[in-house]
Amino acid sequence: MNYYSAPVAKLIEEFEKLPGIGHKTAQRLAFHVLNLQLEKVESLANSIRDAKLNTKYCSICSNLTDIDPCNICQGHTRDQSIICVVENPRDVVAMEKTREFKGLYHVLHGAISPMEGIGPEDIKIKELLGRIGQDTIKEVILATNPNIEGEATAMYISKLLKPLGIKTTRIAHGLPVGGDLEYADEVTLAKALEGRREL
Ligand SMILES: [Zn+2]
Repeated sequence: MNYYSAPVAKLIEEFEKLPGIGHKTAQRLAFHVLNLQLEKVESLANSIRDAKLNTKYCSICSNLTDIDPCNICQGHTRDQSIICVVENPRDVVAMEKTREFKGLYHVLHGAISPMEGIGPEDIKIKELLGRIGQDTIKEVILATNPNIEGEATAMYISKLLKPLGIKTTRIAHGLPVGGDLEYADEVTLAKALEGRREL
């Protein structure tokens, strides 16, 4: 039996597809939207569409950006000799919040995970190697997550970089094992960065 009209049921269904949103929260969000004035609903819908339409991947670091190259890659005050490799754009935000890192980034968009069928070719490792081939990179910091996939990815990349004579470091532990970089607090993350060790 359908308790809701088809459009409302559809809206609840769409909210439920979002990460971390269960059925009850989806219902609450749907009714919140229904109670908004039409212009507020249109503004919300437009923000979602605009964010999607005006966001692309930086052609250098693969971070999400509205301009290409992104602000960080273009930044003349950034240290061009050091690249911090992270799994996703949210990690760049976490790292930037520490205000400790002044180099460049490279976003892999995932981690190697044989369990999920994600191999090295499925994430942006090739693009990273391309940057190292042409730039004056002196150090690569591997800041992938401290879980099995993140460690495997860091090991894989360090083996590729070793023969190229690039200093390769891994952020220190102290980050909760199995956790995500993006959820680490700024002090912990800054300490992990400071305490990085060479691989
Ligand atoms: Zn960039």
